[in-house]
Amino acid sequence: MVLKYESTRNNQVKVSPSEAVVKGLSDDGGLFVPREIDKLELDLQEMCSFGFHDTAKKILSLFFPDFSAEQINDSVVNAYDGKFDDVSIVPVVKVGDRFIMELFHGSTIAFKDIALSILPYLMKKAQSNCKMKEDIVILTATSGDTGKAALEGFKDVEGTKIIIFYPNDGVSTVQEMQMITTEGDNTYVVAVEGNFDDAQSAVKEIFNDLALREKLGDMGLKFSSANSINIGRLVPQISYYFSTYADLVKKNEIQMGDAINFVVPTGNFGNILAGFFAKQLGLPVNKLICAANENNVLYDFLTTGVYDINREFKKTMSPSMDILISSNLERLLYFMSDKDNAYIAELMGQLKTQKKYEVNDAIKAKIKDQFWSSYCSEADTTDTVKKVYDTFGYVLDTHTAVAYKVYEDYLEANDDQSKTVILSTASPFKFTGSVYKALFGNTDIEELKLIKELSDKTGVDVPAQIDGLGERAVRHNRLCTPASMADEILAILSETK
Ligand SMILES: *Cc1c(COP(=O)(O)O)cnc(C)c1O
Repeated sequence: MVLKYESTRNNQVKVSPSEAVVKGLSDDGGLFVPREIDKLELDLQEMCSFGFHDTAKKILSLFFPDFSAEQINDSVVNAYDGKFDDVSIVPVVKVGDRFIMELFHGSTIAFKDIALSILPYLMKKAQSNCKMKEDIVILTATSGDTGKAALEGFKDVEGTKIIIFYPNDGVSTVQEMQMITTEGDNTYVVAVEGNFDDAQSAVKEIFNDLALREKLGDMGLKFSSANSINIGRLVPQISYYFSTYADLVKKNEIQMGDAINFVVPTGNFGNILAGFFAKQLGLPVNKLICAANENNVLYDFLTTGVYDINREFKKTMSPSMDILISSNLERLLYFMSDKDNAYIAELMGQLKTQKKYEVNDAIKAKIKDQFWSSYCSEADTTDTVKKVYDTFGYVLDTHTAVAYKVYEDYLEANDDQSKTVILSTASPFKFTGSVYKALFGNTDIEELKLIKELSDKTGVDVPAQIDGLGERAVRHNRLCTPASMADEILAILSETK
């Protein structure tokens, strides 16, 4: 079987895996999905014998069958190398009776590194598989972490340019400094006067702007995306669900076949969707627990079936989850509706016009069966960072703290003894200001100087990846409105022609 990808909104739109990666988003606004995912199979016993690299190779070759074994091998070996400060790539640590999957050992100390370290390799190879002549312009909206991870991944990659839009005042100081100090001749970073949803919606519209696409074509360029709307971002994330499971089997913490829970701090629904895909492939998963912050639109949806973005957007101390429109939910709905493309197109139309939709009862029941959700307030986030440090000496970042607290809610509401893994999506140093304040109270020390303070007081080393961040030269200072993003892109591209 040659696996094809189709648009969530139209089953007449079918593309090869390579085309799906290169395009990023379907022309009809839908997301690419592997219709035949139920036919993909993995041998759990074999998967449990693998380390991270072999796990990744196996999963990538399953989802991208038009890539040669050599292309897959080359991508994996180059992506998961010494850029990661832990040889196991995704180490799992035990804190109390639960497990923390540390996804923050890559170059930008957040979980996006897992996918974005490999995406540039996959995209270059996909470009060659499609015999595509144009150079690629990566266009990406970020709530903070994708931006830097994508910049690092695509920096100086021949035949690509990368333009990142982030919400001005919507990201942490460390995140902003990481982005605006990025080197490389093909990198562009633009602050947007708006929130993440504004930036993401504008990017999606730009993708579907035919006139603009033609203009780009004349310049020998083509857009693609490094957001988790790109299936090339999502597939590599399946690996760590399997590698963690294998880890727990090897350490005798579980028996092969035991179903376990995963708690995922969620924003755009990419990370948790990768967990859903892992389960489709046969990983024994009991519940996927979706943790939200005060922007709890996903919690409301997963518990009521109503997705309603008519609400205030809140800025929280877990900014990478400050999202109202979780793009990847569309992919889940596609599978939960038994691949009913027309129904998905209708729901997404309602989201656009009425900012709201409600799914049918069959989907509500299926969701309840596989997912559980709760959300965590700002006060509880702070308390959880402090409590876990005081009890176990382990420093959580704010996003991971949201997940930790939501798991406490889960235990209170459910009598479930299954072993549980909490996905830790960022190093505490990425959100030093909030973490320091939670542990040691208010301070006048500015955030970049606090990094060393936090390290001195907790005894946790400053990750080498951000050492000396404050002294790096600022290389990007663009600012625009959501409405002028298309013009900004043209300005950037003509400037560099
Ligand atoms: C991106 C991000 C999230 C949210 O992940 P999604 O895949 O968008 O749901 C959570 N935590 C951190 C630190 C992130 O960078």
